[in-house]
Amino acid sequence: MCGIIGYVGEKNAVELLFSGLKRLEYRGYDSAGVALIAGGRMTVFRRAGKVDELSREVLPQGISARVGIGHTRWATHGPPTEENAHPHLDCRGKIAVVHNGIIENFRPLRDRLIAAGHSFRSQTDTEVLAHLIEEHDEGDILAAVQAAVRELEGAFALAVLSEDDPDRIIVARMGSPLIIGKGDGENFVSSDIPAILG
Ligand code: GLU
Repeated sequence: MCGIIGYVGEKNAVELLFSGLKRLEYRGYDSAGVALIAGGRMTVFRRAGKVDELSREVLPQGISARVGIGHTRWATHGPPTEENAHPHLDCRGKIAVVHNGIIENFRPLRDRLIAAGHSFRSQTDTEVLAHLIEEHDEGDILAAVQAAVRELEGAFALAVLSEDDPDRIIVARMGSPLIIGKGDGENFVSSDIPAILG
């Protein structure tokens, strides 16, 4: 089980996410990624390997974003490849999910979602979350996440970003740690306190 970081506020989310990911490194991980809403569009970067390699790819691009989520992964379902790295996206590329833990009932959920026409791109248990939220999405992302998590078994912490509702991060947890840091005009989310202490 590894790390989650999220930021929404007036500062540049890109730099804050990477400094949070660096502070989560001590937990151990095999891959890392971030999802940002930049210029109104969902933008995802992820790769197997070190946070530093990812940040060397992303930071020089000078992307400006006011909201984003990041993840360090310790693979439980599917090898540590780029396609299995979080964030995972729904079919439309509008909903991004990062997740710590294990979705115990992901197989029947995945079968049902594939039968309903969803295309999966990874071997993770996590990707079912993105498609399940998409399936429940009728224009209210909070309601969609609430409906999706009611179907889950296992221990999890997750953070969700939607291109259609770019001013907030939806979070949920059951049996895995996740904390919210409330600020003045900004909020953080993290799987542990050291990542947002600064
Ligand atoms: N079970 C998920 C995966 O294998 C999340 C693992 C984690 O907590 O980093 O992708």
